[in-house]
Amino acid sequence: MIKVNNVDKDTIRSSNIKLIINLLFNKRELTKQEIAKETGLSIPTVINITNELIEEGLVEESGVGQSSGGRKPIIITFNPNSKYSFGVEINSKYIRIILTNLDANILEDEVIRFNGAFKLNENNITNIFDEICKIIKVISLKRNIKDSSILGVGFSLPGTVNEEKLFLELAPNLYVKNLDFHYIEEKLNMKVYVENEANSAALAELRLGIAKDMRNLVYISIREGVGTGIVVSGYLYKGKNKRAGEFGHMTVEKDGRVCTCGKKGCWEVYTSSEVILEEYNVISKNKVKSFEEFFKLIDTVDKNAMKVWDKYLDYLAIGIHNIILIMDPHYIVLGGDISEYDKYLIEPLKNRIFQNNNFFCEEDLKIITSRFKENSSIIGASILPIEKLFFINERIL
Ligand SMILES: [Zn+2]
Repeated sequence: MIKVNNVDKDTIRSSNIKLIINLLFNKRELTKQEIAKETGLSIPTVINITNELIEEGLVEESGVGQSSGGRKPIIITFNPNSKYSFGVEINSKYIRIILTNLDANILEDEVIRFNGAFKLNENNITNIFDEICKIIKVISLKRNIKDSSILGVGFSLPGTVNEEKLFLELAPNLYVKNLDFHYIEEKLNMKVYVENEANSAALAELRLGIAKDMRNLVYISIREGVGTGIVVSGYLYKGKNKRAGEFGHMTVEKDGRVCTCGKKGCWEVYTSSEVILEEYNVISKNKVKSFEEFFKLIDTVDKNAMKVWDKYLDYLAIGIHNIILIMDPHYIVLGGDISEYDKYLIEPLKNRIFQNNNFFCEEDLKIITSRFKENSSIIGASILPIEKLFFINERIL
């Protein structure tokens, strides 16, 4: 007989718990009999685990189902408001903090804005981290949420991260290297998770958006930098050194403009969202401050705005074309600052990408904007702690 030691027993039990939570998360309500049938677990195991989950508040008994003879079975319902998670997004313009429930619905939303480009450094980092912790505490108090009901804090960061060491390794747009997030974990006494912003956004699509059915997609996050998150067969692809998807720094112009990374001619130098307003304001006497103003000018067929937008789309299309050639995905998902402006973006991009293309045609893949628009990265960040509770494997390659 094979001896099962305690470690193995714990592992099996923990994966059985995740299996049941996962099932109830997706189906919302089931009887214990149905849970047993769907998971292949025995009825006593299901009863034991659901009792534990009821005690934790994650699920509740909510009436009786149809009986096929005998006693009517009790329905077990998933409770999305039993636990909470914080998502934090840091970029050079603002820090945003959200509280979500288990369905990643945003319940609280706070923003700290900076004047001009924000640079993190040794002098201001403790203050910034303290401010984030303060806001998290205030939100918890306001909502009357116990620490034990908070699964953790997930950070979406604009650079390469090491999630095991809890480090932001390199973020040229924040002018920072090797930023350690253990400080926040200790100060709040909550589990902290870090992830690259494009990967966070891809994770949101993977769990709740377009990639739920385990397809291949490349999420392109267009902000002050351009990052990409890659999903392959339902797994987030990170690569050997966890730096996969730095398509923003592929060269599109030999000896082109200098990038914040030190190289020349990187894709993001021509396609970051900043470029649009900057270029327009250089050639036009009429200055614009927002994308809303810029796209209004496009509506009026303003010559300068059209010129800037055409050139911008040309460069965006070059990079997307390269990514399609490399990845052959089901979806290209565009997110970030300009994802609200679908109607100016998608059709002209398709024309540029698929015209005279011998490799791909429009039917081969979909180019769309993100389901969560500008919220995708921060929702992805708040999913990070929830991931640990729900999902059996981490879905990372
Ligand atoms: Zn670069």
